[in-house]
Amino acid sequence: MQKFAAQTKKCGKIIGFVPTMGYLHQGHLSLARQAKKDADIVIMSIFVNPAQFGPKDDFKKYPRNLKQDCRLAKKAGVDIIFYPAANEMYPENYQTCVEVVELSKPLCGRSRPGHFKGVTTVVVKLFNIVKPDIAYFGQKDAQQAVIIKQMVSDLNMDLKIKVMPIIREPGGLAASSRNAYFSSSQRKDALVLKKALQEAVLMIKSDEKYEKNIIKAMKNIINSVSSSMIDYIAIADAKTLKPAKHLKGDILIALAVKIGKTRLIDNVQVHI
Ligand code: AMP
Repeated sequence: MQKFAAQTKKCGKIIGFVPTMGYLHQGHLSLARQAKKDADIVIMSIFVNPAQFGPKDDFKKYPRNLKQDCRLAKKAGVDIIFYPAANEMYPENYQTCVEVVELSKPLCGRSRPGHFKGVTTVVVKLFNIVKPDIAYFGQKDAQQAVIIKQMVSDLNMDLKIKVMPIIREPGGLAASSRNAYFSSSQRKDALVLKKALQEAVLMIKSDEKYEKNIIKAMKNIINSVSSSMIDYIAIADAKTLKPAKHLKGDILIALAVKIGKTRLIDNVQVHI
């Protein structure tokens, strides 16, 4: 992969890169389609990165289907799939980590300690292997996108990061590989995430000044289904991820909720 990437760059070709954990859905494919528009060669990585899963997370049962992924990726314009083995990425005596310290602490960082350190470490490794000119990430993982941008800036990495909008299923559930875990009733219950975010936007647009009131209304919507368990609801500054004390500027409303055993995240960004 490294040799191919180096040769491709020598020919002056633009490499577009889409890092994923596979089990592809329309969210992933939207990133690949954008890469196809921008770049000469589109590379997608499929790697279920053990370093970003905690001991209680679903690493072992994370859905995988390489054959189907290859078919879908090809149709979306992917030229090359990079599919490394875990022991190639982290051989014995592997020692190095990359951490974006402050941005990794709030929101998902609080309930998944070490998660973003695992993400940033693998992303740096993938960037060094694939040597992209442009890398594509989804706004679905809003905190991840902010962290990656910070890392690229802090470490003077020579590439552009493009963040693409959230792709949703009909009904509003954000596309996710983990949606595969759901029964049909859980899938229906999961719509409360989007409903809660919609309510928040509506309240902000109707001039609600207190985030406490917004969070209360969101909690009521989510708690209306018995399968739900809120991890967090946050109203934060979209760039710093610090709590938005005054509802002004670019605001990120983000949440993580378990539906049954499946932890989902979703968010919306508003400019006030
Ligand atoms: P994952 O395979 O879940 O690690 O996701 C790989 C990339 O796809 C990440 O940049 C995600 O943010 C992005 N992604 C996942 N779901 C969606 C979605 N529903 N819409 C847009 N991008 C997404």
